Amino acid sequence: MKSLLFSRFLLLLPWVLIVIIVLDIDSSRAPLPARAPRGGAAGSGEPRSAAARPPPQRRPEAALPTIYAITPTYSRPVQKAELTRLANTFRQVARLHWILVEDAAARSELVTRFVAGAGLPCTHLHVPTPRRYKRPGLPRATEQRNAGLAWLRQRHQHLPPPQPGVLFFADDDNTYSLELFQEMRTTRKVSVWPVGLVGGRRYERPVVENGKVVGWYTGWRADRPFAIDMAGFAVSLQVILSHPKAVFKRRGSQPGMQESDFLKQITTVEELEPKANNCTKVLVWHTRTEKVNLANEPKYHLDTVTIEV
Ligand code: UDP
Ligand code: MN
Repeated sequence: MKSLLFSRFLLLLPWVLIVIIVLDIDSSRAPLPARAPRGGAAGSGEPRSAAARPPPQRRPEAALPTIYAITPTYSRPVQKAELTRLANTFRQVARLHWILVEDAAARSELVTRFVAGAGLPCTHLHVPTPRRYKRPGLPRATEQRNAGLAWLRQRHQHLPPPQPGVLFFADDDNTYSLELFQEMRTTRKVSVWPVGLVGGRRYERPVVENGKVVGWYTGWRADRPFAIDMAGFAVSLQVILSHPKAVFKRRGSQPGMQESDFLKQITTVEELEPKANNCTKVLVWHTRTEKVNLANEPKYHLDTVTIEV
């Protein structure tokens, strides 16, 4: 009995030793927890160790519909700050393609540089708003949103059948939760959800009964066909492509009617898909950045260096 146990022990011993050696080699390979930056703008600089952490599961990202975010943007002192905040959000969203449209006659150096370092797929377009439309009370960013739509349609023109995708209009000054992107990703035709801090109220929202939109909770012009902010809906790429003429209009459009004018061309209220727990959660906020005080900014350049802000 003793000799049997001893022979078993001898048989197992080399295997145990091999396992111990392999484990030892592996842990000595683990890099020091130094913050060595990895290449690329999106590098996190986090230490990585094959032994400490199992290899990340490949997420089935290829199957995810791409989210196209069209962002009109214009030059002002806070522009780079707004874009930085937005990119920090978008960088955390899988398969997001940013369509950044400058309200300008040419691409600016600031935005061009910013896009190059943004660390996410980005298309940089530009179109100037005609001067006659740059007046208070007139809709903003009509031409820029249309330029984004035109790019999207052109890109998919020669690619039938279209890849699954969702379009969303993301103004540069709003605040977006990451949950919002999970919600909109499953848009089949046109989806809707509440928007916080808009319309003179804490929030506006589509009113939902039995899974269908039946009205609008809003403090302003409840008679609008779609009483919803630009940040309150998403449209599937399929719908954008099958309605090639649907655009934002200048002609005949009253203030605050851009969303309704656009949505009327592609859907009906009955067809809308409520998101965010039947439109009972605020996942996006229509925040607006305070006009910055530059009262003490010198008239002529005084500093010894020139800094992009
Ligand atoms: N915008 C623009 N050109 C302008 C004014 C605004 O491209 O002359 C952009 C702006 O950067 C934002 C969107 O249009 O992404 C909506 O503008 P804003 O946030 O000023 O509108 P509001 O908050 O009043 O809806
Ligand atoms: Mn805004």
